[in-house]
Amino acid sequence: MSEDLFKKITSHAKEYGFVYPSSEIYDGLSAVYDYGPNGVLLKNNIKQYWWKAMVQLHENIVGIDAAIFMHPTVWKASGHTDAFNDPLIDNKDSKKRYRADQLVEEHLAKIQAKIEKEVRKARKRFGDAFDEAKFRAEHPRVQKYTAQIDEISRKLNDALANNNLPALKALIDELEIADPVSGTRNWTDVKQFNLMFQTQLGAVAGSAQHLYLRPETAQGIFVNFNNVLKTARVKIPFGIAQIGKAFRNEIIARQFIFRMREFEQMEMQFFVRPGTEMEWYENWKEKRMHWHRSLGFPADFYRFKDHEQLAHYANAATDIEFRFPFGFKELEGIHSRTDFDLRRHEEFSGRKMRYFDPETRETYIPYVIETSIGLDRMFLAILSASYKEETLDDGSVRTVLRIPAILSPVKVAVLPLVKKDGLPEKARELFDRLKWDFQVQYDEKDAIGRRYRRQDAIGTPYAVTVDHQTLSDDTVTLRDRDTMQQERIPAAEIPRILNQRLHLKAWLD
Ligand code: ATP
Repeated sequence: MSEDLFKKITSHAKEYGFVYPSSEIYDGLSAVYDYGPNGVLLKNNIKQYWWKAMVQLHENIVGIDAAIFMHPTVWKASGHTDAFNDPLIDNKDSKKRYRADQLVEEHLAKIQAKIEKEVRKARKRFGDAFDEAKFRAEHPRVQKYTAQIDEISRKLNDALANNNLPALKALIDELEIADPVSGTRNWTDVKQFNLMFQTQLGAVAGSAQHLYLRPETAQGIFVNFNNVLKTARVKIPFGIAQIGKAFRNEIIARQFIFRMREFEQMEMQFFVRPGTEMEWYENWKEKRMHWHRSLGFPADFYRFKDHEQLAHYANAATDIEFRFPFGFKELEGIHSRTDFDLRRHEEFSGRKMRYFDPETRETYIPYVIETSIGLDRMFLAILSASYKEETLDDGSVRTVLRIPAILSPVKVAVLPLVKKDGLPEKARELFDRLKWDFQVQYDEKDAIGRRYRRQDAIGTPYAVTVDHQTLSDDTVTLRDRDTMQQERIPAAEIPRILNQRLHLKAWLD
């Protein structure tokens, strides 16, 4: 997969009404995007698939929808006012701004690439006899690179963990990292940059209260812990789920909707008895991976990556990484957040955030396992894994989005073979019957082949064609997007077939 493919995916997303740059008539706004007619359908379907898997299928998980604005003390308690920073550095010649830690990460990736090159060369040389694990452990050059990576990673993690900005700067100097734009090593000092957007409440001059746009949805769940406990009749272990917008003033935002300044999160906080959190952490890792795999993309598109450097609130953390066109990157985070958040809210608010456990007859602050996935990132994962350019038997090329049918924006296209002989009327009848249950598209313009291509390009899994035979025996053809096979079936069968193939149970169970 390449940069080239990624460019094709972004322009396809725009051309077919999935994603547009925000305020495009004013030349756009950096790292902010709008979703078009097909985009909003796909996005809503992803939300539903997540919400149903988490809330509807779990008796002990309930949902909420908290406001984006929250009392400013929330962010003091959560640690975001003090610690939600990224280290930034400027190159004095190009005037370009970078995340200092990412410059070092990119340097590490280059060394890693050298290792992979050695491995590839050796595999070619030794063929079937190649013992990769042994080679990685023993080859002198690979050993040297591995030692370099370990040493640099250790210094990077130390600097980040201790908030030691001069050490980070020293590391960039020591590694002789140059600005990819200017090619020079003329860097400023490293500074902390808080990622929260600030705004204010109230119109009276001087009395305005500073507010933040929430940088994560999780805190809306924690501050409502007591409310939900009292009103939802939940017993530990239980979860609270939420889908909503989050805002981060990212220093550099690139790669399309991978890193945005306004985005959406789907988060679930699972409250458990202290001491059982590791069991639940493993359990949620497995469940979340199962959810991803249920969509049917190849298994090697996913991997876990455990965090070496834990956030201030976590005692274990892993990412589910996805193979994007630009490499494996975080798609979802699973964190064991201990009792950090509830405890801090107890301290800052003076309200008890505790649970009386009727089984052990103890009162405690529950521990929390969090699953947190970016909706827009999931959207990008699906788009990039679905996009295919296929050469057909007749030598022509079709562009198809092999989106998992349960998520496809349009489920079925209804197409009269020709625009006469009463076929449009017959097709409209079918459209009217199906539209109550499915997102359907009616299309009579252009030759049938071109209409199929149009549906392929937006990922419609099924197309029903009404032809002259339909008029005499009420049968239609049902075309499958992926196999392009057509079967002839009674029109009356279509709703049943679609219901069966698009049923949640068929995907998730
Ligand atoms: P990253 O390391 O990529 O900055 P993070 O570790 O800060 O992400 P979390 O705070 O764990 O991310 O947020 C949970 C999820 O929210 C991420 O797995 C990702 O899918 C999504 N997410 C985070 N930041 C952004 C962003 N700027 N744009 C889009 N999605 C995001």
